[in-house]
Amino acid sequence: MINLLAKSLADARLTLVSAPAGSGKTALVAELPHAFPETAWGWLLLDSEDDDDRDSRPRDERECPFCAEMILKKARVCKHCGRDVEPITA
Ligand SMILES: [Zn+2]
Repeated sequence: MINLLAKSLADARLTLVSAPAGSGKTALVAELPHAFPETAWGWLLLDSEDDDDRDSRPRDERECPFCAEMILKKARVCKHCGRDVEPITA
């Protein structure tokens, strides 16, 4: 199984490993860095609460209404464009 997965990984930028709980997904993926140490690996674990792609920005930031750069919600002046912005305190 690990060779089959490694073969698909060679041609893919992203590979999804999805299977029922207890089927060995974690053990399989955890074996990859040991089996192929020359490859750089990353692991992103998602669960059922990670279902909103609009919710990826830090919660203490917002978009500047003038320049669209990300600034703190509590900012009074945009650090990018220097415009005065209304702080969000709630
Ligand atoms: Zn700005």
